[in-house]
Amino acid sequence: RQSGGGAWSYFTRTMSEDVQSRVSMLHSLRAAIDFKRGLSLAYQPLVNARSGKLVGAEALLRWRNDFGESVSPQRFIPLAERTGLINELGLWVIETALDRLARWRAQGLSDMVMSINVSSVQFRADDFAAQVKRLIDLCDVPAVAVTLEITESIALEDHAHVMEQIAELRRFGVSFAIDDFGTGFSSLSQIALLPADQLKIDRAFVDKVCNSAADHSLAATVVMLAQGRNLGMVAEGVETEEQKDALLALGCEKMQGYLFGRPMSAEQFDAWVRERRP
Ligand code: C2E
Ligand code: CA
Ligand code: CA
Ligand code: CA
Repeated sequence: RQSGGGAWSYFTRTMSEDVQSRVSMLHSLRAAIDFKRGLSLAYQPLVNARSGKLVGAEALLRWRNDFGESVSPQRFIPLAERTGLINELGLWVIETALDRLARWRAQGLSDMVMSINVSSVQFRADDFAAQVKRLIDLCDVPAVAVTLEITESIALEDHAHVMEQIAELRRFGVSFAIDDFGTGFSSLSQIALLPADQLKIDRAFVDKVCNSAADHSLAATVVMLAQGRNLGMVAEGVETEEQKDALLALGCEKMQGYLFGRPMSAEQFDAWVRERRP
C-alpha cells in the first residue's frame, strides 16, 4: 500500500507539472501572438537539384519564449491547434511569408515561390480561403507564386468543407502540396481524393533512398505514385550527395535539405542567394 501511495503521489505530481507547463506555455504563446513577440519565420531554400537553380522557399515558424529558449514548432503548434490559437497564428505566418515573398520578387528573385505550412485545423474556419485571398491581394503577390502545404491529417476534417476551401483557392491560382507524404495514416484512396499539385516526399523516404534494395524500391514507389497522378514532387531532408543523385535518378528534381541550405532568417537567406550568384 505504501508503495502504491508513493506511486500515486508521484503520478499526480508529474501530471500536474505537465498540465502546469502546458498552461504556462499556452499563456506565453498567447502573449507572443498578441504582442508579436518572439515569433519569426525561417526560410529554407527549395532548389532544382539538376539545374542548381533556386525555385522557392519554405517558411518555417520559430518561437523564442520569454526565457529566450527556442521552442520547437512540433511542441507549440499542436498546442495552438488544440486551443484555436492556430487561426490567428497561421494568418500571421501567411502574411509575414507573403510580405517577404513580395520583397524578394521585387529584388529580382522574380520567379520565386513561397511554400507555407497550414494546419488542417485552419480549414475549419469558414473564411479561411477568403482570408488567404485577402492576404495575397494585400501583399500584392501573384497567387501562382503561393503553395500551401497540407498534411494527410486533413482527411479527418469535414470533407465537403475542406474541398470547397481548397477548390476556391486553387481557382484563385494557389497551389497545394501534400506534406510528409507517406508517413500519415491515410490510405492511398484518401490521398487520391485530395486535390493537390505536388507531393513532398518525407525525409523518412529520402533517408532510405540509398539503403537496401527494398528501401530503395519503397522510395521509388512513392515517386511513381506522384508521377502516376501527374503531380510535382519535392524531396525534403536531403542531406547527402548520394541522396541527391539517387533522387535525380528516380526523376525527382526539386529538393530541400541541409545539403542545399538550412532554414535561415530573411537576411541570411539574402546572403545565401548573393553567395550563389556567379
Ligand atoms: P515540415 O513542414 O515537414 O518541415 C520540415 C522540417 O525538417 C523542418 O523542421 C526543417 O527545419 C527540417 N529540415 C529541413 N531540412 C532538413 C534536413 O536536411 N535534415 C533534417 N534532419 N531536417 C531538415 P522544423 O522547422 O522544426 O519544423 C517542424 C514541423 O513543424 C514542420 O515540418 C511543420 O510540420 C511544422 N511547422 C513549422 N512551421 C509551421 C507553420 O508555420 N505552420 C504549421 N501549421 N506548421 C509548421
Ligand atoms: Ca512543410
Ligand atoms: Ca515535410
Ligand atoms: Ca514534418
